[in-house]
Amino acid sequence: MNTCDFLVIGAGIAGASVAYELAAHGRVILLERESVPGYHSTGRSAAVLTENYGNQIIRRLTIVSRAFFENPPDGFTSYPLVSPRGVLWVAREDQRETLAVMLAEAQQLVPTIHAVDVSEAKRLCPVLRKDYVVEAVLEPDAMDLDVNEIHQGFLRGCKRRNGEIVTNAEVTRLAQSGEGWVVHTAKEPFSTGIVVNAAGAWCDEIGKLAGARPIGLTPKRRTAILFDGPANSNLPSWPIVVDVDEQFYFKPESGRILASPADETPVPPCDVYPEDYDVALVMDRMAKATTLSVRHIRRKWAGLRSFVADRAPVVGMDVSLPGFFWLAGQGGYGIMTSPAMARAAATLIVERCLPQDLAASGLTPEDLSPARLQGA
Ligand SMILES: Cc1cc2nc3c(=O)[nH]c(=O)nc-3n(C[C@H](O)[C@H](O)[C@H](O)COP(=O)(O)OP(=O)(O)OC[C@H]3O[C@@H](n4cnc5c(N)ncnc54)[C@H](O)[C@@H]3O)c2cc1C
Repeated sequence: MNTCDFLVIGAGIAGASVAYELAAHGRVILLERESVPGYHSTGRSAAVLTENYGNQIIRRLTIVSRAFFENPPDGFTSYPLVSPRGVLWVAREDQRETLAVMLAEAQQLVPTIHAVDVSEAKRLCPVLRKDYVVEAVLEPDAMDLDVNEIHQGFLRGCKRRNGEIVTNAEVTRLAQSGEGWVVHTAKEPFSTGIVVNAAGAWCDEIGKLAGARPIGLTPKRRTAILFDGPANSNLPSWPIVVDVDEQFYFKPESGRILASPADETPVPPCDVYPEDYDVALVMDRMAKATTLSVRHIRRKWAGLRSFVADRAPVVGMDVSLPGFFWLAGQGGYGIMTSPAMARAAATLIVERCLPQDLAASGLTPEDLSPARLQGA
C-alpha cells in the first residue's frame, strides 16, 4: 500500500498550502477528487487581501500572512504574488454610524485605514453616485492576490519536497488502523499516520466518513459577475469598492469589472452555480450606487464560502479521533490567510503548538481548535 506520514484530503488552497508545509517534515500525499486542483472555491474567489475583514482571529491570520505574499520563500515563484489595490468602504446616509464603528475597530489593528471625504472617494472611483455615497473609508494597503500563482506555488513546492499529488482520487472511506489510518479512494487505498481534512465545503462529509462528530460547517453560496467597464476611464487604478454592510462590492479585474451582491445563501456542498435572482440583485445595487450600466455580462459564477457558527477557521486535532486533523471553515478568507493557516496547522501537528509569530499576535490553539464545536 502507498504509505505516507501525512495524507491531505482536498487540493484547494487549504490542502495545497498545508501539504507544502508538512512536506518539510515527512512524506506527504495530497488527494484531490477532481481532475484539476482548484476547481471549487479556490478557483472562484475575488482574489483580495484586506486586513479589515472577518473577526479578530481572521484579521490576525491575514496580517501574519502578508509577509509571505510580499516576500515569498526563494524558488516559490518567479512572479509577484500581490499587487497594490486599496479598498474603499462606502456608506449611504443611513450607514454613517456603521462606518464610524467600522473605522474605530479597523484602526485598532491597521492604523493606516482612514476616512476620506466624498470628493476624494469620487476621485478614486469616478462612477460613484454623489447622491448615494456620503462618507467613505480607505484601506490603502489592501492588495490583489494572484490566486493561481499562489496555489500553483504551494503545489510545486510540495512536489519539490517529494510530496505526491493524486488527482481523480475521491476519498470514499476512512478506517483507523493501529496508530494511523487507511484511506480508501476511487483509485487505491493509502496508509498514513495523520489525515488532514482540508476538503473545503465537504469537511463535515469527510469527518462523517471517519466517524468524527460534526463541526457544523455551513457552505454558503456567493455570486460574482464580470462585465465591461466604461471606455476611456482609469478603471485599472480604481480601488475595490465595498458597501460598509457588505451588500455589494466591485473591483477592476483583467480590464473588466468584477461585482458581487455579497450573497451568503446556505446550500449543501456541491458544484454550485449562480442564481438569476442574485445576478439581478448585484445589477440593481450597482445601478443605485454607481453610474455603471451592465450591458453585457461576460461571465458569471458562484462559489462556496464555508463557515462554522463563530466564523473562525477550524485548525486542530479531532477531539476523539487521534491522527484526524481538521483544516476547515476558511469562509471568505481562505486565500489571504493561507500562509499563516498552513503554518499553524503544520506546527500544531508536528510540535503541538502554534508558530511563534502567530502566538505573539495573540492567537491561541483553543481559538482554532475543533473542540469548541465538537464538545469536550
Ligand atoms: C465569490 C467568492 C469570492 C471570494 N473572495 C475571496 C477573497 O477575495 N479573498 C480570500 O482570501 N478568499 C476569498 N474567497 C474564499 C476562498 O475562495 C475560500 O476560503 C478558499 O478557496 C477555500 O479553500 P479550500 O481549499 O478550503 O476549499 P476548495 O478550494 O473548495 O478545495 C477543497 C477541495 O477538496 C476536494 N474534495 C472534497 N471532497 C473530497 C473527497 N471526498 N476526496 C478528495 N477530494 C475532495 C474538492 O474537490 C476541492 O477541490 C472567496 C470565495 C468565493 C466563492
